[in-house]
Amino acid sequence: MLLSAHESVKRLAKRDFPGRPATLINTRVGTSQAPPERCLMTRDTPVARETAMRNKVEKSDAEWRAQLTPEQYRVTREKGTEPPFSGDYQVSNDHGIYHCVCCQAPLFENEHKFDAGCGWPSFDRPLGVHAVEEHVDDSHGMQRTEVVCAHCNAHLGHVFPDGPPETTGLRYCINSVSLSFHDGE
Ligand SMILES: [Zn+2]
Repeated sequence: MLLSAHESVKRLAKRDFPGRPATLINTRVGTSQAPPERCLMTRDTPVARETAMRNKVEKSDAEWRAQLTPEQYRVTREKGTEPPFSGDYQVSNDHGIYHCVCCQAPLFENEHKFDAGCGWPSFDRPLGVHAVEEHVDDSHGMQRTEVVCAHCNAHLGHVFPDGPPETTGLRYCINSVSLSFHDGE
């Protein structure tokens, strides 16, 4: 039976992430307060989720432009994609945590990184199910699942159902430029 990529992702997510919502999140809730310099959420716990919801980061386009490089702004705030095999993190495998380049929320860790050969850093899962949100993306004539930072809504990349079958079966294909690696965390 052929499944759309979106349906496959949902089925795999349901199978491998028992605590994960069965349906993808299409709407965002929450209001902003003063943006924290660093997110306190390090693991998926009720406290971490509440912290993430309370500390949603919202900035104006001018504020993001002032904070980010032009390429970081294009990818994270305008849903761009860096050229394959161009990013800093596509082949690195140092021990540490990958944070959101916009709000510094921890998003992925290198233990879940694998070499997909696709030219972008790939992970089989996020750092806790509330680190990222997933949205249906119908752009460019494809149906894909967009991955954004749950904290500041930065575009990170997409998730595909062709990850390692021995773990989650998912491939979080993430732009290096949307990440900031913290060595040794
Ligand atoms: Zn963020």
